Amino acid sequence: MKTIRLRDGKERSLQRRHPWVFEGSIARGSADAGETVRVESHAGEFLAWGAYSPSSMFRVRAWSFDESERIEAAFFVRRLRRAIALRARLGIASDGQRLVHGEADGLPGLIVDRYGDTLSAQFLSAGAERWRAVIADALLATTGLSRLYERSDASVRAREGLDIRVGWLRGEGATELLITEHGWTLGVDVATGHKTGYYLDQRENRRRFAELVRQLGCRSVFNGYSYTGGFSVAALAGGATQVLSVDSSGPALALARDNIVRNGFDLAGCEFADADVNAMLRQALAEGRSFDAIVLDPPKFAPTAAHAERAARAYKDINRLALQLLAPGGLLLTFSCSGGVNADLFHKIVAGAGLDAGVNAAILQRLEASSDHPTTIEFPEGEYLKGLALLKQQ
Ligand code: SAH
Repeated sequence: MKTIRLRDGKERSLQRRHPWVFEGSIARGSADAGETVRVESHAGEFLAWGAYSPSSMFRVRAWSFDESERIEAAFFVRRLRRAIALRARLGIASDGQRLVHGEADGLPGLIVDRYGDTLSAQFLSAGAERWRAVIADALLATTGLSRLYERSDASVRAREGLDIRVGWLRGEGATELLITEHGWTLGVDVATGHKTGYYLDQRENRRRFAELVRQLGCRSVFNGYSYTGGFSVAALAGGATQVLSVDSSGPALALARDNIVRNGFDLAGCEFADADVNAMLRQALAEGRSFDAIVLDPPKFAPTAAHAERAARAYKDINRLALQLLAPGGLLLTFSCSGGVNADLFHKIVAGAGLDAGVNAAILQRLEASSDHPTTIEFPEGEYLKGLALLKQQ
């Protein structure tokens, strides 16, 4: 077993069970990609077992802080059992669930989503990659399922020195699946969909949106960055009669249409725009349209804090336009999934948008990712999705 010795004073973070060791914290030691290493303090005390990643800024990701634990197949089975047991207690009203959420489940670099009887996984670190076959077998053993699709095509793999890999890792068959979310039937394609196929992190917010649409009697809805229409179906389920879904992906909009039809809603009031949301908001304003509810769920404008300033302008712009376009008393659900923009900053950006629009709004609720995307107290960086439900003043 190779040892990584930290610089003097750099042991604090691992002692607090934070799982990352940055390149600059290491005094000496190295290993192969994904190899298990013993990390110790400058004084030689055990801190963690971790996976070494020679080309990553996250030079070691900790598997375990328990010196007696061995990193072997049984370790992965234990961690997966723990993750699955947590989900079983969450009362999730869907067979689309995140089973493993990386660091928050003690498995850095591993993402596993379940869509009905199919698993879809991303191996995003050298450590997860090294144990890929063991993890695949452990996933089947712990879930009792037989189909596992691999979506290791996220750009972060390049920073780990890993190539893209996509395809069936265990089992085979059609990649187009149906899941049931809050009683709605939704199509997911694990091969061509975004991430592992679908945005499970917005599941609870889609349910909340349906409730609010009904409670507030919203009829017309602008769903910006609609992807496959999850929030559009939620709007229709909440009683909306006119729903405009806007996304820059044609295939996503085609699935959105299928999802609306599948759930028995009338397409007559539904519009689909393959367009840029910012441009579409401007166009709708120019045409004098207005909406009772608007959803803005854009992609990551700021992957890291370095992009925050430019991202802030982009967020402010679309939120200003949306607040203008909203009917008096209307509902805005606005999100940011940028790691580089925290909830406080996002609030300030939206407040700035309100000032520019000359619109005041009440915060009905602060929103976050679904409970199967947990944030642990030891790893607050895991918190990425934040949102606000706002009511425009009458
Ligand atoms: N709300 C969705 C998830 C949205 S993900 C859900 O609940 O499932 C973000 C979406 O934004 C993606 O579908 C992507 O295709 C789309 N997108 C990215 N840039 C865009 C742009 N400039 N205008 C419109 N859509 C965009």
